[in-house]
Formats: sequence, structure tokens, C-alpha cells
Amino acid sequence: MRGTFASIARGLLDVVLPPRCLACGAITEEPGTLCAGCWVQVRFIAEPLCASCGVPFEFEVGEGTVCGACAAASRPYVRARAAIAYDDASSRFILAFKNGDRTDAVRTFAPWMLRAGASLLADADLLVPVPLHWTRLFVRKYNQAALLAHALGRHAGIPVAPTLLIRSRRTRALKHAGAQKRADTVRGAFAVPARRQRQLAGRRVLLIDDVYTTGSTVGACARALLRAGAASVDVLTLARVVRPALPAGGLPPPSAFPHTEETLS
Ligand SMILES: [Zn+2]
Ligand SMILES: [Zn+2]
Repeated sequence: MRGTFASIARGLLDVVLPPRCLACGAITEEPGTLCAGCWVQVRFIAEPLCASCGVPFEFEVGEGTVCGACAAASRPYVRARAAIAYDDASSRFILAFKNGDRTDAVRTFAPWMLRAGASLLADADLLVPVPLHWTRLFVRKYNQAALLAHALGRHAGIPVAPTLLIRSRRTRALKHAGAQKRADTVRGAFAVPARRQRQLAGRRVLLIDDVYTTGSTVGACARALLRAGAASVDVLTLARVVRPALPAGGLPPPSAFPHTEETLS
């Protein structure tokens, strides 16, 4: 009876306010989803990946291979993984989720992240979202990273600690900033209050955010968590900026290009 009522109510609501595509606003069947045209533009990130930062490689690599950038500078986190590439197409629905009150997008994003982060979730004791400064939270009313963390925690059965890590300093928006500028801006911007450190001691933390750009924000968070006693930190984001990357050591062996000989002969 109740189910019938709910579906009638949903039906009426759909007539008045039909569900809309997260990216382009076209009418869709289900709320919080993409239309077929926007769906095909989503680029999912798949193996082979840098074992550390998760940037995709163009060719097969040996297990544990890291990219040149990770070999040059050690990361405070162990592994970072992301579900999709951050590009023109995905930025539209990610920004709608972040700033446009499309919180219903979580139902589409969470399954993507569960798949991309399966091995990270399997090793995690605690999920910690990248926090917003309280003034920004006041304006936006919700923290998109916390929404993702709660959905993932519910699905994977892992506790979520949304207030463990705090943004102690307000930082300017980093839209077009380069790697160095980003690193300088977020350095020391995050902290774990002393009274919360017991909750963190010896725990393997999985840090959750919406977009991985240069890794400086999650890096600053990971450092704060490790300083406060976390055993290790992995990072799972919805999306990441994908730049062409080579494994440390440069070009792959010729065997990585099985078609080369064919092309030459
Ligand atoms: Zn669309
Ligand atoms: Zn890397």
C-alpha cells in the first residue's frame, strides 16, 4: 500500500518536475543520472595505471610501476585512484554536483567509485572526506566530498568520519593554479584536532574527494592524517585530471608495442 502510494507520488512529481540529466538538463527516466548522449562521453579510467597516483598509461607495464612524477617526488599517500577522467564533458556534471545542488548525482557516482576503488575500500578502516572550510560550507550548505564518503561508507560497510579532518585555514579557489602554486596554497591548511587523534591511531584511512588535480590537496590532507597517527592513507576521487604519463625510466620495452614490427615490415 505504502509502495503504491510512493510510486503514485513519484509519478505525479515526475509530471511536474521530471528528472533531468546531470550534465545537459535533458529529461531522463531516473533522477540523478545522465542522458544517453552525455553518458557515452564519460571516460572511465582503467588499468594499466601508475601504482601510486593512478594516472593511466597508454601501454601495459609491470606490476608496481610508477609514473615519472611519482618516482621524482614521494607521495604522502600510498595509492590514489579515480573513477573517471576530468574533462570538458565530466566537468559539467561535477560542477553541477559541487555547486548546483545536484546532490542526487551521488546515486550515479557512488557505484563508479565503488568499482574504481574496490581494492582501496577493501583495505580501509575509515573513510575521511576532504573538508571544506566552514565559511564555504555555510555558503554551499553541503560538502560534496562528504556526500560521496557517506554513500561509499553505506555501500561498503565502512565507518565515515566527516569531522575528523578540518580545514583550519581558508584557501582561495585553485581553478587555474599550477602544481607549485597549489602545493603552496594548501600547505598546513588541514589538521586533526588533538581530541580526535585517538580515533585515528593506527587506522588505515581512505581519503575521499571529488576531483584529483595535481594531488596537492589530498597530499596536504594525507600529511595531516599521518601526523595525527593514521597508519596509512589511500585516496579515492570521483574524477582526476589525466595528463599523458610515462612510467619512471621513460619509454617502455619494444614488446609493449606488439604491432610495431608489423607496421615496419
Ligand atoms: Zn545529457
Ligand atoms: Zn604516478
